[in-house]
Amino acid sequence: MMRTPILAGNWKMHKTSAEVRAFFKEFSQRTQSNWVRADIMFAVPYTLLAVAQEAADGMATIIAQNVHFEASGAYTGEISIDQLRDLGILGSLVGHSERRQYYGETDDTVAKKVTRLTDAGMLALACVGESRAERESNQTEAVVTRQIQSIFNAAKSIDRLVIAYEPVWAIGTGLTATDEQAQAVHKLIRGLAREHFGEGSAAKLRILYGGSAKPDNIAGLMQQPDIDGGLIGGASLKPIDFAAMIDNVTQ
Ligand code: PEP
Repeated sequence: MMRTPILAGNWKMHKTSAEVRAFFKEFSQRTQSNWVRADIMFAVPYTLLAVAQEAADGMATIIAQNVHFEASGAYTGEISIDQLRDLGILGSLVGHSERRQYYGETDDTVAKKVTRLTDAGMLALACVGESRAERESNQTEAVVTRQIQSIFNAAKSIDRLVIAYEPVWAIGTGLTATDEQAQAVHKLIRGLAREHFGEGSAAKLRILYGGSAKPDNIAGLMQQPDIDGGLIGGASLKPIDFAAMIDNVTQ
């Protein structure tokens, strides 16, 4: 079964409108015909969603980095699914480790967001991954299994669900998981998907790797049987790097 790879940039709290326009101008000049073989996405700050949507001009899908699970209400500083949809934005990251670490995101809030997004027919790009301490104490499998079970139980449909395995110790640190370390966890996740949704759905589920992925290590990761793309922070900020990654994956 051929799964279309996804290369998703996560811009975190970077860029202004002018920088977004400049990014897509340069990015468009680097576009290759091969790129149709991948789904290209960017998760951008709320204030840049509209300008990115316009500047990307169909070259990439623009998604949010977070969303609230309630439809509306007294939640100062939050954004709802309908408010995203109002801008033509049809998906969001959910449970990025920075949200879990710094903003109190839990398996429970991640689950609620996955339910609401998948119920609304929106893409939920849900992130899981163990900390360094958890890996060093051999809890990787237990932690990822707990996080994934919670997401799978919450998903109303697997069709609009994408998983990103992002070992926390590899995010923004320059320490990439080895191809074998990443594949072992991706295989675990696909096995859990098989148990939960059946063989056919598990074979279609796209599982991305994230954590210091770069132009020179993405190809090796992508050769692993259960790695279907990347969620990319630092190396998605410059068109030259991100374009090189897409080239490496679509050749
Ligand atoms: C991320 O933020 O999802 C990420 C993987 O960051 P980086 O590529 O910079 O490690």
